[in-house]
Amino acid sequence: MTSKTIFNKILKGEIPCDEVYSDEWCLAFRDIEPQAPIHILVIPRKGIESMLEAKEEDKELLGHLLWVVTKVAKQEGLTNWRTVINTGLEAGQTVFHLHIHILGGRNFHWPPG
Ligand code: 5GP
Repeated sequence: MTSKTIFNKILKGEIPCDEVYSDEWCLAFRDIEPQAPIHILVIPRKGIESMLEAKEEDKELLGHLLWVVTKVAKQEGLTNWRTVINTGLEAGQTVFHLHIHILGGRNFHWPPG
């Protein structure tokens, strides 16, 4: 299922993206419909549909993704940011390839909508 997502096409270079970071485990690029002045997605190269499908064997990868969030946020000059992982339709997930949103450059409220 993840092999059919738009993010898989981005990973394969079939669809362009505004890349900000890349390594052997993941890719980070700007969201096409930004919800904040800075809105970046960090996605694993491995096709995990969502956090619901993450396995124990993915622990190192998941930690790496969070480390990349901090690296990219700092690269963007952020000292405050919101990190979001939507899991499942009712939580607002629309692309079923695991991704972490980095949102920054404006104030955020709590609780989220
Ligand atoms: P979700 O709602 O699944 O948590 O987030 C999916 C995000 O992917 C949305 O913020 C949406 O704007 C973004 N997105 C969807 N298609 C594309 C695309 O083709 N390119 C980029 N850069 N972002 C996309």
